[in-house]
Amino acid sequence: MKDSIMHLVRSNIATLEPYQSARRIGGNGHTWLNANECPISSPFTTNITSFNRYPESQPKNLISSYANYVHLANNQILATRGADEGIELLIKAFCDPGEDSIICCPPTYDMYAINASILNVQVKEIPTLKETWKIDLENIQRNLNKVKLIYICNPNNPTGNLISKKDIINLLKITLGLTLVVIDEAYIEFSSKYSMVNFLQYYPHLIILRTLSKAFSLAGIRCGFTLANKEIISILNKVISPYPISTIVADIATQALSEIAIKKMKSRVLKLNCNRDWLIDELKKISLVKKIFNSHANYILVKFHMYKKIFQKLWEKGIILRNQHHKINLKKCLRISIGSDSECLRLIEEIKILSNI
Ligand SMILES: *Cc1c(COP(=O)(O)O)cnc(C)c1O
Repeated sequence: MKDSIMHLVRSNIATLEPYQSARRIGGNGHTWLNANECPISSPFTTNITSFNRYPESQPKNLISSYANYVHLANNQILATRGADEGIELLIKAFCDPGEDSIICCPPTYDMYAINASILNVQVKEIPTLKETWKIDLENIQRNLNKVKLIYICNPNNPTGNLISKKDIINLLKITLGLTLVVIDEAYIEFSSKYSMVNFLQYYPHLIILRTLSKAFSLAGIRCGFTLANKEIISILNKVISPYPISTIVADIATQALSEIAIKKMKSRVLKLNCNRDWLIDELKKISLVKKIFNSHANYILVKFHMYKKIFQKLWEKGIILRNQHHKINLKKCLRISIGSDSECLRLIEEIKILSNI
């Protein structure tokens, strides 16, 4: 059975390491601090009762609501099945397989490179500078040949740092007319003044990715947005599947973008940012902690003495973190999502216990 199909698989898929999503890694946890989800859920209901018709391809109310939230025009917005679909659509639309490349700057979100590999598009990895996590502009500039897309994550996952506006603008200047620049703003609500949305009017090759999965607390509905100038959005509209946003998703996402829901989101963000500062203060007192990286998002990257034991022991106690040790420049690092008050407390208590043995 196996032999009769395996030779049919594309060779880049046969050798592909799939994305190690938090759900795929598993664990028997009750304290999930490994997927940067929001620990506080806000309930939604839907009044829609009939589902016999296909949804609108790009639900108008949803698009207008997001346009209103980011102060852009409707034709500058594409709704997608999570920001992840936006990452993929861009490569599908702009990169010739076996010919073009993307640039990404590790340590960063893995899905840029994984989507490129699936589509047989080459990945040029240009690491950020160690510990300052600045993008290596000179190295990027030297490697632009055949590059169609540059993915920058801001704030960066998993390091938590921001890329300065000055560096992003310099990147936009050196790439104008050569490649597109994609800023992944999945966590931007946690540092909202650093968004590049206002720069779309100056840079035709700027693209911004957004999601409802993190600050909006809606990872379960799978809804994201690609923001760009209208020419880019119409190209992506050619490539996206006909009905990417289900009727229920559109309804709930639109509710989540009402004025009152946005207010709630903002207060959740303030709360999580406080929890983050509390967690950092507490971790500073623990001797097993080697270094805490500055974070502008709802997670922190921490370098530990005995990182493996800490990861394992917490796992056994149902506290699930994300191991980053295998990534470039992240030896002995674990990423911790910011949880609720009680989750943060528990985490600190358990790490304290471990540092006493
Ligand atoms: C979580 C995450 C995404 C994916 O968001 P979805 O909308 O849930 O697909 C994209 N980029 C980064 C950096 C993320 O951390």
